Amino acid sequence: MPELPEVETTVRGLERVLLGRRLTEVTPRRADLRRAIPQDLGQRLTGARVVRLHRRAKYGLVDSDRGDTLVFHLGMSGRWRIDPGEIGAHDHLIIATDDGHRLALNDPRRFGSLDLVRTEGLAVWPAFMAIGPEPLGGAVTGKWLKERFAGRVAAVKLLLLDQRIVAGLGNIYVCEALFRARIDPRKAAGRVSRVRLDALAAAIPAVLEEAIAAGGSTLRDFAAPDGDLGYFSKTFDVYGREGKSCGCGGVVKRIVQGGRSTFFCPNCQR
Ligand code: ZN
Repeated sequence: MPELPEVETTVRGLERVLLGRRLTEVTPRRADLRRAIPQDLGQRLTGARVVRLHRRAKYGLVDSDRGDTLVFHLGMSGRWRIDPGEIGAHDHLIIATDDGHRLALNDPRRFGSLDLVRTEGLAVWPAFMAIGPEPLGGAVTGKWLKERFAGRVAAVKLLLLDQRIVAGLGNIYVCEALFRARIDPRKAAGRVSRVRLDALAAAIPAVLEEAIAAGGSTLRDFAAPDGDLGYFSKTFDVYGREGKSCGCGGVVKRIVQGGRSTFFCPNCQR
């Protein structure tokens, strides 16, 4: 499943192809993904020029010079293909640019979404109003986490996955950040010390930025035929490493919290 670094890498890859370009074709090839695709999406974007690409949580945003923003979510299996050799059954949106590139949004499982939102209204778009600050950009500090976690008995890992507290954080990077901050993922959030929360607030952007850097290094070949954006291999300290040794001499353990796997080292995460 694409997490925030994959979405950020995708946006940066799309930026190379789309920024400043006029869209000569924007064609949805079905009426819905996870939810309905706006019926006028193709009509409103065809002929428009792309003026900015950015990201909010795990949504990619493509602003046009007509005041509309294409909002895409990759769901479980979505990816953008640059100049695909041929269009397949799972390519649900086709975009062509005035300099001859063609892009396809491919999503076999169709848990993704496509929306068209007025750019000036993005901040109050319902999906964005309900979520917390971005984990990159400095808004998530130890002090801020302390305030949000005060009195909470839920496990700190589960609260970090709550999009109302931090937007866009997923299972992998929550596990990795808790490991870096040496926090037991089972610990009641309200009982984590301020010192550990300061460490956590630093670890969250660090693990994300490292993954984004790894993804960025894969973008060089973006114009290759059938180039897929945003998926890359990464190495993790604890995620997916059940039974492997930790640098501290302990062994990485897997438990299930809220239906999701948690990987951690009981020896050094307290
Ligand atoms: Zn350890």
